[in-house]
Amino acid sequence: MASSTAVVWFRRDLRVADQPTFLAAADAADRALALFVLDPALLGPSGAARTNFLYGCLRELDAALGGNLLVVRGDPAEVVPQVATAAGAGTVHIAADFGPYGLERDERVEKALADAGAELIRTGSPYAVAPGRVEKGEGGPFKVFTPFSRAWADHGWRAPARTSASSCSWVDPSTVDGGPRAVPVPGDEPCDSTLPEPGERAAVQRWSDFLDEGLHDYEGDRDLPAKHDTSGMSPYLKYGCVHPRTLLADLGERRGDSVRAFRTEIAWREFYADVLYRRPDSARRNYDTAFDHLPLRTDSDAYADLDRWTQGRTGFPIVDAGMRQLRAEAWMHNRLRMVVASFLVKDLHLPWWWGARHFMQYLVDGDLASNQHGWQWTAGSGTDASPYFRIFNPITQGERFDPDGDYVRRWVPELADVPGKAVHQPWKLRDGIPEGYPEPMVDHRTERRESLDRYEAVKAAR
Ligand code: FAD
Repeated sequence: MASSTAVVWFRRDLRVADQPTFLAAADAADRALALFVLDPALLGPSGAARTNFLYGCLRELDAALGGNLLVVRGDPAEVVPQVATAAGAGTVHIAADFGPYGLERDERVEKALADAGAELIRTGSPYAVAPGRVEKGEGGPFKVFTPFSRAWADHGWRAPARTSASSCSWVDPSTVDGGPRAVPVPGDEPCDSTLPEPGERAAVQRWSDFLDEGLHDYEGDRDLPAKHDTSGMSPYLKYGCVHPRTLLADLGERRGDSVRAFRTEIAWREFYADVLYRRPDSARRNYDTAFDHLPLRTDSDAYADLDRWTQGRTGFPIVDAGMRQLRAEAWMHNRLRMVVASFLVKDLHLPWWWGARHFMQYLVDGDLASNQHGWQWTAGSGTDASPYFRIFNPITQGERFDPDGDYVRRWVPELADVPGKAVHQPWKLRDGIPEGYPEPMVDHRTERRESLDRYEAVKAAR
């Protein structure tokens, strides 16, 4: 009897460990064809950092699969059925996607596959608990994080699937006749940022280093950007080089504030995925529509101010340090993401989605759910957003979270010779602002008041 074939279509799960799709494919058929589709609809908006990181992950995945990853380019609704037909596959296995584009794409692929006589089978997702699963007791979604996180923990998750590259017998793609043309993983695009090592092996190494060295002090140090004490797992979670379920299982029975704090951060990621799934419009619009009435600046001066912010030349050292780290490393510490976002929205009065777009262009971990909702949390228009009137003061944020000024000096060379926390207010230095560093572009106290005045329009709309 001829052997049967399944397709395993990788998307945001670029790993071989903890891969339930492998088990589903091995159940369905004797052999599996590993597939990745370079989808222009997704690659277009990803900046060079994410694109290059993705390519690195694909190269490593291909090596892990013995060189058997078939890479094709095109609209998945066209090329996936072509691949299935060429391979004679009756099933295509995926981890479900819950983002607005992914949901719509997978529906189109499912229909096209059905027309070609094949079935799309979803097993698992990039989350410990799939979006849409956690519901209030009386039904319906949570709109506030804390009760969501409790219900999420109560819901629980499966143990990691025990898989490896040898869980399936992989088809050599060169033996598949017909179908879309195989392409090599493209070479890297020009990119000025230094990126983390891509791929599953680097993810596992980074995670094990964090468990050994970082987790212990995570609760105390995670808000201090000068220390490198957060896990750095975000790009690996974004591309599924590791599954969050694996991280949660490794935390296992460990106890303590740091373990609790880390689990809570994973829950934020899952919460935002759930919010986006239930309100896909919130990727582009205010979750709280009363904020549609907030007067915003969008004239040509506003664009010039946006430009200064993106360049890290606002004259507020902690803001500029964050914006420069973003360009240099395609990553920014969470505290800084909040500080620079607050500055854009509440000191410059610009639309949060302008800032969110810039983040998505540069971040190696850029993730629609976490990014758009992280921005909306800061802007006040999100789910259980920080109250609008809680306006970050960029000077005291710097003094509090970078008390010795080390973070600012690392990223703002013009201020490298300013000692200690004086670096946060260079305009107060006896010799004046060091050469090359700009004057503050706004007066924070004035803009704070202006923000509160503008907020009156939101209150009136409620
Ligand atoms: P750790 O502190 O080690 O946390 C572990 C993991 O928990 C992270 O990798 C991440 O998956 C998750 N996590 C932590 N904090 C958050 C959070 N506030 N919201 C959601 N998940 C969280 N995170 C992204 O992954 N992609 C983004 O595009 C993104 N954009 C953001 C934009 C803004 C304005 C803000 C305020 C936050 C954003 N975050 C985003 C969340 C957070 O800043 C990053 O996840 C975190 O800095 C990544 O570093 P880490 O892996 O070392 O974090």
